[in-house]
Amino acid sequence: MNDFILNTEDREFRAEVRAFLQRELAPRAAAIENNEDWTAVKAVVRALGDAGYLTLMFPDLYRGALKSPGLTHATILSEEAARINYAFETTIATALSCAYPLHRYAQPAVRDRYLAGIVEGAQVGAICVTEPTVGSDSAGMQTTIEFDEASDEWVINGLKRFISNASVADTYIVYGISNSAAAPQKGMSAVVVPDATPGISFPRTYTFMGRRGCIVGEVAFENCRVPADHLLGRRDEGFRIMLGMFNFERVILGGSGLGVARSAFEIACRHCQQRLSFGQMLGSKQQIWGRIADMSCRIDAAELLTYRAAKLYDAGGLTPKELMKPASMAKLASTETANFCADATVQILGGEGLTKQYGRAEQIFRDARALPIVGGTSEMVRYLIASVDLPDIKLNL
Ligand SMILES: Cc1cc2nc3c(=O)[nH]c(=O)nc-3n(C[C@H](O)[C@H](O)[C@H](O)COP(=O)(O)OP(=O)(O)OC[C@H]3O[C@@H](n4cnc5c(N)ncnc54)[C@H](O)[C@@H]3O)c2cc1C
Repeated sequence: MNDFILNTEDREFRAEVRAFLQRELAPRAAAIENNEDWTAVKAVVRALGDAGYLTLMFPDLYRGALKSPGLTHATILSEEAARINYAFETTIATALSCAYPLHRYAQPAVRDRYLAGIVEGAQVGAICVTEPTVGSDSAGMQTTIEFDEASDEWVINGLKRFISNASVADTYIVYGISNSAAAPQKGMSAVVVPDATPGISFPRTYTFMGRRGCIVGEVAFENCRVPADHLLGRRDEGFRIMLGMFNFERVILGGSGLGVARSAFEIACRHCQQRLSFGQMLGSKQQIWGRIADMSCRIDAAELLTYRAAKLYDAGGLTPKELMKPASMAKLASTETANFCADATVQILGGEGLTKQYGRAEQIFRDARALPIVGGTSEMVRYLIASVDLPDIKLNL
């Protein structure tokens, strides 16, 4: 059955990227998961760049066949990649999140210098928001970005943690407080920091339960200096830039959740049509087909919400504030569905679901767990949704 939100061009694009990822990502997925092979990740990023898929968000840069490239197509790409390997998909999401503020807010010379490498897949970017004392409460960040009039430079001091691509990225987009006298929402700035800048270091790399092959760590800044023109947008405009980034990142994460959910669902469906239990197919048991029906329903609901948000974004005309609710709903529904489906699939597979010897169910279960935490936790996106539905009261965060 065809969905009715995606049009013919979108569906043809899905077929195209699915074939591309089968060719480029699928043969490397085991090396990424088992050996955390960064060269395999980089090779696929490069192939994506060569094919032009990392410019999908930017119609003025895109040179492919689509009449209206945009977030819908980027979300399809995210979904199809996550269906094969969610850890790899992180590099797509980060590349787009990094390219977006460069494309939209960097001064022309800075944009030319840093954007091309990322969208060509030759370089990798990182986004630095989270800190040891603030994650969800990003407005409370401690990192400072101060302007030094004498040298005409921005000076960055602080520690960021849980940063995807820390230590392997070429370009870091860093958020920090530039005016401590103002409310954080009005005193935050964003700057571009190349990896070789003196004062940047990478104290720690984390070991996660899932998403193997995706490098996540700390990034420290100690009197780290970048030229005045490395500011993104205007001084103290960082919070607004960050909110704009979150909207499209959450839709992309909706695609990731959907891809992870579908990969689990396919395994569950295959297993319960092959496995005999009490002399009959496992799938013929009411408790099993009930779970399949619930998974199927939740996947379709997540798909509708995700592509509704992507289409609203692409249609233009809505403010970032108006897009916040549909983007948050897409992220919440898809990432929670990914976990629901990953858990149900392990249960349907029984002991096989817990082992590496019987396929990817255990990997999907470990990978999926990050989805309701990254890019705004389920609790935070629920807050954003409800704050629109309950305009007359101030929700207690
Ligand atoms: C694999 C991975 C990759 C990441 N990549 C990046 C990256 O590239 N760049 C980056 O900047 N960050 C990144 N992050 C960080 C991520 O965005 C944060 O982990 C996330 O925002 C949550 O912050 P926290 O971990 O500090 O949890 P906290 O904010 O401490 O929250 C802990 C728990 O408390 C809940 N909670 C907090 N406040 C409230 C409240 N008021 N009401 C109800 N519940 C509440 C949260 O929802 C959560 O469940 C990454 C994280 C992971 C795990």
